[in-house]
Amino acid sequence: MVYHFDHLSSVGGRIFEEERRRVVRSLIAEGYLRTQAVVDAMLRVPREEFVLPEYRRFSYYDTPLPIGCGQTISAPHMVAIMTEKLEPRPGQRVLEVGTGSGYQAAILAEVVGPRGHVWTIERIPQLAEYALNNLRRTKYLDRVTVVVGDGSEGYPPAAPYDRVIVTAAAPDIPKPLVDQLEDGGRLVIPVGSRWIQVLKVVVKEGGRVRVERDIPCVFVPLVGKYGFKEVENRDRDIW
Ligand code: SAM
Repeated sequence: MVYHFDHLSSVGGRIFEEERRRVVRSLIAEGYLRTQAVVDAMLRVPREEFVLPEYRRFSYYDTPLPIGCGQTISAPHMVAIMTEKLEPRPGQRVLEVGTGSGYQAAILAEVVGPRGHVWTIERIPQLAEYALNNLRRTKYLDRVTVVVGDGSEGYPPAAPYDRVIVTAAAPDIPKPLVDQLEDGGRLVIPVGSRWIQVLKVVVKEGGRVRVERDIPCVFVPLVGKYGFKEVENRDRDIW
């Protein structure tokens, strides 16, 4: 028996594209997507390329999905909310803490464009490798640098940043991340306990730091020097 994978993948590609449009339309209707640049980014980046094969058919369900090592790719509505709060602009330098699948980094790469750059830092080497492969296949590596390390300390070699986004839950706002923020910069970060957090937006203006509280949210923990100390990386089969 000969299977024609090209034919199947092109059909799959078309279906995913329709599903992507559907989820973006619903994120606009729900008020999560508010700017054309972020809408365009979410229409362009194929989430199915950042999802594990066994969950691919759920790529456009508005839910987080497991990516291995006890971690998750965030739900599309959370990516939309955080990207809109971050207010990224073309040409900017962005630091993402918590690379995971690489999906959020690809969204940011679309918005900052060819003159901008995204540094994304991940503490689990296998996930950094997974993200690197996903970003290579989807052709974002000219604008994204993947780093392995403790992002709760930021990434001093490329600082300062116009924007910093943390996609894991921190007990407090890590001071190094505020220090590495450019004047006029913005930092978006979930802050709270292991099980519930509030999304915070930190704005640096004229050397002053203002913190705004936004919506409640639930993220996996930021583990590191300025994060939580304990870690549980076990995956459990939920089927
Ligand atoms: N932004 C990711 C995406 O688009 O797939 C999802 C991120 S996932 C919710 C959180 C990630 O933060 C996990 O991959 C986890 O390993 C990582 N993480 C936790 N603590 C970290 C730290 N101190 N430095 C860097 N990454 C960290």
